[in-house]
Amino acid sequence: STDITERHQLADQRERLLDQQQRQVRQLQELDRMKDELMALVTHELRNPIGAIRGYAEMLTDDPELSHAQRAFVEVIDRKSAHLQRLVDDLLDLARLQAGYIAIEARECDLARLVRQAVEDHRPAALAKRLTLAADLPGHLPVHADALRLRQVLDNLLSNAVKYTPDGGIVTVAAGPAAAADAGNPSVVLTVADTGIGIPAEQYGRLFERFFRASTAREAGVKGTGLGLAITKAIVTAHGGAITAAPGEGGGTVFTVILPVGPPTSS
Ligand code: ADP
Repeated sequence: STDITERHQLADQRERLLDQQQRQVRQLQELDRMKDELMALVTHELRNPIGAIRGYAEMLTDDPELSHAQRAFVEVIDRKSAHLQRLVDDLLDLARLQAGYIAIEARECDLARLVRQAVEDHRPAALAKRLTLAADLPGHLPVHADALRLRQVLDNLLSNAVKYTPDGGIVTVAAGPAAAADAGNPSVVLTVADTGIGIPAEQYGRLFERFFRASTAREAGVKGTGLGLAITKAIVTAHGGAITAAPGEGGGTVFTVILPVGPPTSS
């Protein structure tokens, strides 16, 4: 009979622990929701005032009666408020993406063409650093995706590659059909590789967290917010795809994006 009481006690204890765990999970979920709400609120409340500051600063820069010093001050206000505006826009975009508020408007588009356009848009920045910017693309690469959002992904990966690669380096972009692991669900693979400063091995796991910046980037004194990759990942995930990062063969970093070719299936 001691056996039976002991078993009862154990069962009681287990139930209490389960209860406690469920309560903690609910509390964490509630906190998470509050955090998201707070972030959305703060972002909205910041957006309008920053917009106004920017607008007036821009108007002032055109005023011919400003002294040299005044013009310099106004330019700082303009530049800093532009930076704040980008930061707030990125935060808002990320919050919406992560909350699932943003619908991906997927339609048939040509990834090869999107990549070519993005590469040409980043060429001036690459040239300014004497980087070689090479693309390896098929003539066409049809995917079912949101072209504007894919451009955002490409712009983020390309601007990072250019930003984190010292003068004289190489940035290579390639895209093509993925090796057919699942013939019924074909996918495409996009890689952006660079010969840049790289990421310490133990930091790869945190790369797609918002605000995370690798020590290599901080030590190199390259500016950034740590939001781009979080946004990029949210967009890729919303398309049913995946993104990973790995060290390049000759140093640097390779980002790999896999996207399904067809529209997302609900099964
Ligand atoms: P940031 O505004 O800091 O560039 P991201 O979210 O785009 O923010 O990237 C997060 C961090 O990932 C960067 O701060 C940098 O440490 C690292 N990173 C991203 N792309 C590269 C790259 N091509 N080479 C080296 N490090 C990179």
